Parts: sequence; C-alpha cells; structure tokens
Amino acid sequence: MTAISSQRIKKIISDPPWGATLEIKGWLKSKRDAKDFSFLDVGDGSCIQGLQVIADSSLVNYQREIKKLTTGCSLRIVGVLQKSPAQGQNAELIAQEISVYGWADPDHYPLQKKKQSFEFLRSIPHLRGRTNSMGAMIRIRSRLSYAIHQFFQERGFHQLHTPIITTSDCEGAGEMFTLTALDLDQLVASPAKKVDYSADFFGQKASLTVSGQLEAETYAQALGNVYTFGPTFRAENSNTSRHLAEFWMVEPEMAFCDLEGDMNLAEEMLQFLIADLVNSCPDDLELFNRFVDKSLMTRLAKIKEAFTRLSYSEAIDHLLASKQAFEYPVSWGIDLQTEHEKYLTDSLFQRPVIVYNYPKNIKPFYMRDNDDGKTVAAMDVLIPGIGEIIGGSQREERLDILQQRMAECGVAEESYQWYLDLRRFGSVPHAGFGLGFERLVLFATGLSNIRDVIPFPRTPGSAAI
Ligand code: ATP
Ligand code: MN
Repeated sequence: MTAISSQRIKKIISDPPWGATLEIKGWLKSKRDAKDFSFLDVGDGSCIQGLQVIADSSLVNYQREIKKLTTGCSLRIVGVLQKSPAQGQNAELIAQEISVYGWADPDHYPLQKKKQSFEFLRSIPHLRGRTNSMGAMIRIRSRLSYAIHQFFQERGFHQLHTPIITTSDCEGAGEMFTLTALDLDQLVASPAKKVDYSADFFGQKASLTVSGQLEAETYAQALGNVYTFGPTFRAENSNTSRHLAEFWMVEPEMAFCDLEGDMNLAEEMLQFLIADLVNSCPDDLELFNRFVDKSLMTRLAKIKEAFTRLSYSEAIDHLLASKQAFEYPVSWGIDLQTEHEKYLTDSLFQRPVIVYNYPKNIKPFYMRDNDDGKTVAAMDVLIPGIGEIIGGSQREERLDILQQRMAECGVAEESYQWYLDLRRFGSVPHAGFGLGFERLVLFATGLSNIRDVIPFPRTPGSAAI
C-alpha cells in the first residue's frame, strides 16, 4: 500500500491539489459501469458532495471486487486528482489502488440510491446519517451548536453546566421524568401503597431537569452573564411535530437586564446564528432549499430585518380582528396556540414576532409582575413556519412579591429557600430565555418534523435506539 495520509473530500473539493496523489476513505454512494472502467461516487461525510473516482479495468482487483461494489460499501482509494473532462464535474480521482473495508449486501442494505421518505428513514436511525439530507442536517446542527458558543463567548458570557438531575420543577407543570434507584418491582410487591422517597438515592424525590434556568440564575448573580446549553427532558404526552421528550436548550441568563434587553439579545442571537450558517453551510442549506422547502433561503435571508414586537394584548386584538377561523377560540387570557402564533408570523407580519407581557395566570411563578396587576414581563419569540422558538422573561427580583407569587402558584417555599436567598442577598434585576435548539434546526433546514433534526429522537412510545 502506498503510504500517504488521507484527506477529507470537503478539503479536496474546496482547494483541489491538481495532479497530486491523494488517499480518500469513505462509502460508495453510487456506481456506473462503462465498457472499460467504472465511475464511483464516493462520499466521506465531510460535505454533501461526493468525489468522482475513475476505476479503470486494469486495476488488479477490478473484476474480482470493483465490479461487485454496491451502494454503502466502505472504501480506501489512492489516486491522482485531475480536472474532469465532463461538464459540471470539477475534480475526479483516477484510481491507482482501491481496497474494500466492508461490503454492504445490496439485498439487505436499506439505503439504495432511490429517494427514501423521512418517515422510512426514522425507522433506521443508526443508518440514516448516511443519506444526503440527514448528513446535511447533522452538519448544520453541529455548526449551529458551535456558533452558539461563539456568540455567547464573544459577548463575555460564561458557560455554566447546570445539573441534569434536579429536585426542583422549574416550570411547575409536573411534566417531569422521575429518576429513581428504588427497585420498582419490589415496591409494587410491597404492602405499603406509597413510595418512600426518603429511602431513595437522594433522600428525596428527584427528576430529570426541564430547564437549567433556576440554577443559571444563581451564577448570573455571581458572574453577570452566563449561559447553559444542555439536554432537557419533558414527559409531556404531546405527540406533535414540535415536541420531543429529550431536547437541547440554550439558556442565557443576565444580571442587570430587563425584558427589553432580553428581547434584544434573543433577536441578535437568532440573526447571528442564521447569518453564520448561511455563510458556513451554503451547500447543505441548498439541498434543503431545493428538495424540502423552496422558500427556505428567502426566509433565512429575511431574518436580518427587525422582528415585529407587540404586547400580548395587541396580539389578541389582531387575532380577534382576523378573518381566519381558529380551532381554539381567542379571548384575552388564553395561552396562544400554534395556529395563533403562525397566523401572526406567517400571515399577518410575515417575519419573526416577539410577543411580550403575557397574562400572569398562564405563566410560571418566577416571571416579574408588571404594574398593571394582570401581566408578567414574559416574552416569546415566534418564527414563521414553527411558532414559539424562544420563551423568556425578566425574573421577579423582589422577595415579597416572589413569595406572594409562589403562594398563588402553590409552590412550596421550603424547597426554594436557595432561590429566595438570591432575593435576600444582593438581588438585582435579571432576565433570560430558553431557545429550543431543535426548533432552531427546524427553522434552519425547513424540515417539518422535529424527529428529523436530532439523531436519536425520544418521543412518547419511542426510544428504541
Ligand atoms: P410549547 O408551548 O411549544 O410546548 P413551552 O412554552 O412549554 O413550549 P418553554 O418552557 O418556554 O416551552 O421552553 C423554552 C423553549 O424550549 C421553547 O420556546 C421551545 O423552543 C423549546 N421546547 C419546549 N418544549 C419542547 C419540547 N417538548 N421539545 C422540543 N423543544 C421544546
Ligand atoms: Mn414557552
């Protein structure tokens, strides 16, 4: 074997070293046989494009192996890079040596060249990453993740690793997964009809976190600006195309910040992330623009324009004035449903919309009371095609009002003494939000089902791989 180091196809295509002898390693996307040679389209996952390889019949293993190659086989190829005489083909590798790492029995390999539905691909999460669309999605997801850290780090935010195991329920919605080390089978068999959590691992009931916000608040009031980016878990039984039981959330928290500063950061962040993506992943985005959503690039370009901001009360007025028939009736005090959110973003304003000052009865205890006695300083960012992508608020920093809200919401003070301490000692106005990372990837790709923007989706009844 020739001793040269292998190169990624992305690099070869972006800056072709014409005439050089190169080694690539990857998987066969497709093969076409001509009279005295074969065209192999080989991909290695570094980019959407494959590299065309010319395998001449004079290769020693041509009859024995190369002619038998099928989609999915893994290969090592050494060859000379040359400009392709064919139109539309920039570079091709004239193979000198081809070795096969692994065969992929065409009778059983499920990813043949023909286009597969996203639904079918969901049944093979361990293999779907090899398709163009899922490969592109993961590269986009990875880049967005990188850009999130870049955005916050460049602005002096410190990353905070908040716990995944928690004993507080941030949203108070009771949609948490209980985490236990108790032997459930034994428990069922025992005569006591009540679970004794004091005998459990942590000496009290514990769950998987639904948000890192409350913990992030503690460090915002020490370091100023922090952000978390981690997995969150919600046992909500909503089998929709926008909900997962396990999803990733980005949560900045800022001391000395009010609701307006919070909205400004959310808008600036989304604009930064999309601009970065358009710049860094044009080929992957182009695939989605061509095959999934023809208005994708237009929508992404439009995010540069200022978001529309309006209060919840104004939003309700717009909904009441609209001629559209909604399934869920509109009146002041309702929680906005997806159809309402989409009316604002897709029909009325045709751009992202930030709705602020929601009725306090539909929001959690920690949001700051407004002077009107009816609303709290909450804000949701709604985006075209999806609806809510960000939920945030200014937090209640006044001890007495917070205690009153906790009582109203039935939140027991005992377990939140640490949270109240933040209001007892050097309390400051502060605000933050949570961005649903998968909803961002939905927006960035134009894909319509949240199960297609995370490698291994967890939804009700489904966590096989
Ligand atoms: P929704 O009303 O859409 O269920 P929410 O108001 O319960 O969302 P928040 O508690 O405000 O959500 O969480 C912040 C963000 O996390 C949301 O704006 C959304 O982008 C995302 N998110 C919330 N729940 C889920 C979920 N089950 N799967 C994926 N993303 C989610
Ligand atoms: Mn929300």
